[in-house]
Amino acid sequence: MSKAPDIKAAADTALQDIRANYEFIKEQIAEAMDKAGRKDKVRIMAVTKTVATDKINYAESLGIDLLGENRVQEFLGKYENYSENSEIHFIGGLQNNKVKYIIDKVRMIHSVDSIKLAEEINRRALSKNITMDILLEVNIGNELSKGGFTDIELSEAAKTIAELRNVRIRGLMTIPPPLEGEYYFPRMQELYENLRNGENALNGMDTLSMGMSGDYAAAVKYGSNIVRIGSGLFGYRNYTI
Ligand SMILES: *Cc1c(COP(=O)(O)O)cnc(C)c1O
Repeated sequence: MSKAPDIKAAADTALQDIRANYEFIKEQIAEAMDKAGRKDKVRIMAVTKTVATDKINYAESLGIDLLGENRVQEFLGKYENYSENSEIHFIGGLQNNKVKYIIDKVRMIHSVDSIKLAEEINRRALSKNITMDILLEVNIGNELSKGGFTDIELSEAAKTIAELRNVRIRGLMTIPPPLEGEYYFPRMQELYENLRNGENALNGMDTLSMGMSGDYAAAVKYGSNIVRIGSGLFGYRNYTI
């Protein structure tokens, strides 16, 4: 097991740092998979907010083929420079009136935090004659500052959204309260398994998106299969999001 690389400020993070960070993340995931006795796969998403495209392209050259976007404007200015092989998911807060800009440019939307948003995605997907894959965002810590469905609201909301013909619920996403991931991930796993295999199970549930730079190993322990990594790969941003 290699030593954890020193995570620097983004501006001081060179390409070789990104490579070392990525190698370390892969090792940590492999170790967590091993400990959990998991034989399936975890995808590493590179979260691109504020990151220059040359660094994103470098990450792509290392084999990262999944990019996570937070901001519509920033994304629209950058995506044409991405590799054609990259799959792009939208993960940030999404206003209904912005859905039309991204609907034909992303493969999945992780941040579906209301029925209204799901309806708008459905409407825009229909107009493009596509079906959009979505994850329902769970406000697992019941935080007032965060969007998403509480664990109590989730199953009713899932039932309603599952009726929409041009969206397909693929799973759940969460951003737990800071430093409390390990505490909330088991409950997320339970909610996910309920929707997958429980009494009112939905078809096609295969994605549990949880774990960021500070807690991805714990998330993998509890079944996450997409970890979303920003600062752990590209260095610290000079503000919090
Ligand atoms: C910024 C962000 C991440 C990555 O956060 P890091 O702690 O920098 O890894 C993951 N998910 C979402 C939704 C984000 O906004």
